[in-house]
Amino acid sequence: MAAGSEDYLKRMSDALRSGAKMLSEICPVCSSPIFQIDNELWCLRCERRVVKVKEEDEAMAAFTPYVLTRLEGVIASKIDELSALLSKTADPQEVLHITQAIDGLLETLAKSRKLGGETR
Ligand SMILES: [Zn+2]
Repeated sequence: MAAGSEDYLKRMSDALRSGAKMLSEICPVCSSPIFQIDNELWCLRCERRVVKVKEEDEAMAAFTPYVLTRLEGVIASKIDELSALLSKTADPQEVLHITQAIDGLLETLAKSRKLGGETR
């Protein structure tokens, strides 16, 4: 066993003894298990802090409602425009096209609301 590995095992057992938690995630550099020490994530083999991908997800979650709110606004104004068109036409083919378009928009709106509800 290389001296480095022994150091690593010692660091690992020291960390565990001082209350560190071994996580199921692995270090992206060396594939060793990541430890949570005082709310920070560390790879004890690389001896450096690891930034978990989950933090990016959280940043994304904060970003999503804004995007969805904008999307919902666009959908609402499109539905409004289509409603105006629909009220003017008597052509069955056009009525069908417009109602299908509205239907698609409403479906997207429902999905956006559902997704927004999960992250907001
Ligand atoms: Zn590592």
